[in-house]
Amino acid sequence: MRYLPLFFDLAGRRALVVGGDAVAARKIRLLLRAEASVCVLAPKLCAELEHLLEEGRITQARRDFSPEALTDCALVVVADAAQGPRVAATAKAAGVPVNVVDTPALCTVVLPGIVDRDPVIVAIGSAGSAPVLVRRLREKIEAFLPSRLGRLARFASAFRGAIAAKQGDPDVRRRLWEEVLDGPIAADVLAGREQEASAAMLRLVNSAELPPRTGQVALVGVGPGDPDLLTLRALRRLQDADLVVHDALIGPDLMESVRRDAERIPVGKRKGAHSVSQAEILEILRREASAGRRVVRLKGGDPFLFGRGGEELLYLRRHGIAVEVVPGITAALGAAATAEIPLTHRGLAQSLTFITGHGAEGAAPDLDPALLRSGGTLAIYMGLSVADQLAARIQAAGRPADTPVAVIERASWPDQRNHYGRLGELGVLVRERKVQGPALLLVGAVTALGREAPSLSERALTEVC
Ligand code: SAH
Repeated sequence: MRYLPLFFDLAGRRALVVGGDAVAARKIRLLLRAEASVCVLAPKLCAELEHLLEEGRITQARRDFSPEALTDCALVVVADAAQGPRVAATAKAAGVPVNVVDTPALCTVVLPGIVDRDPVIVAIGSAGSAPVLVRRLREKIEAFLPSRLGRLARFASAFRGAIAAKQGDPDVRRRLWEEVLDGPIAADVLAGREQEASAAMLRLVNSAELPPRTGQVALVGVGPGDPDLLTLRALRRLQDADLVVHDALIGPDLMESVRRDAERIPVGKRKGAHSVSQAEILEILRREASAGRRVVRLKGGDPFLFGRGGEELLYLRRHGIAVEVVPGITAALGAAATAEIPLTHRGLAQSLTFITGHGAEGAAPDLDPALLRSGGTLAIYMGLSVADQLAARIQAAGRPADTPVAVIERASWPDQRNHYGRLGELGVLVRERKVQGPALLLVGAVTALGREAPSLSERALTEVC
């Protein structure tokens, strides 16, 4: 390791910045965040710095650089490349840390990429070797860290004294903090429910006992399959999980996002393999959360759309288990986006109806004819094996046989295929193309707008657009 990362207390200390352009302004913004007293050495300032000067937040020296400019300086940053060598040499001789922008060879300190969740700061460096890589990493960490992480740090800090006074044994104290940070109290702070968290924390401080490990279940919707379509919260839950209980039909790469050490229990129906009954799934969730584990019930799409998420929620609630619901991008939205089919469109469809094709005993369900008749778009889940019956019912309800339809197979998976046809031949389309599940059936005029749909006539296009 060539550079030792340190956190530098600059509050109220003098920082000199040589140069007055936009790059200097970027560094000055950072120095001001660290509450440094910033002096700019430059004959001319960019608009942003002029503004800061007017507001009295920085000072300006117009003379040329001389060693005296470094008097009482805690740090010097050079944004003016031409002055780099001279200022750097002088600063080194005077023992003042120096950073010359984009010139690692002249620096004694490097400014890292920063993720700011004050007071929590993540600093990333590459010894000046790969600034773009640092920026990418910073974006990833930025996305991954909860936005209220700083609040959590402040919350913990407010209770530190009380916990230390209560609990003398450092080992027990550490465990207690781990419980707090891994459990519902921290989850409440991160979700903005600080009052509840404070109340729970006070109860904890006042009780003599270490709390029992509190488990919880997160019902996490992971979207249609592409890991890029996970929400940030879903990703966090997958990364924190002790145990993941998952269905079979999720995208092929999704499990890569699960914490490596987490236990995994597949419970989905797979051809030929034993599938776990819903009663067994409920029992696993209850048992594991009661044992203090962080359980993720991973579900394709959204947990509350044809995913039996409601049943799981009610069961766990009845058994006093903490449940969190993390919404996901449902298959209809993923299918529509990837096939470029707007689900509503002025003049074509004013509504969208989510329908399951899976009725009792595997037959097509009885559908409300009024729903089917309205000119809106129908998004049919689990409809592949009953496509013929569904198409017949929708026509019987009044939709013409030539209504455009789309079958979106494995939306967002690497092997996605989109098929287009007419309602009257929906079953034929599914069979001829040998469509594999999971697939979503879309019915309605909007499907004719899909990227690969047979092209619309000129007249139809002008009517629609
Ligand atoms: N809760 C899920 C739906 C579960 S029901 C959601 O919100 O998406 C399972 C059905 O969803 C499948 O039969 C299929 O119709 C649809 N489905 C799930 N993933 C899909 C995908 N990647 N592409 C197309 N349809 C999908």
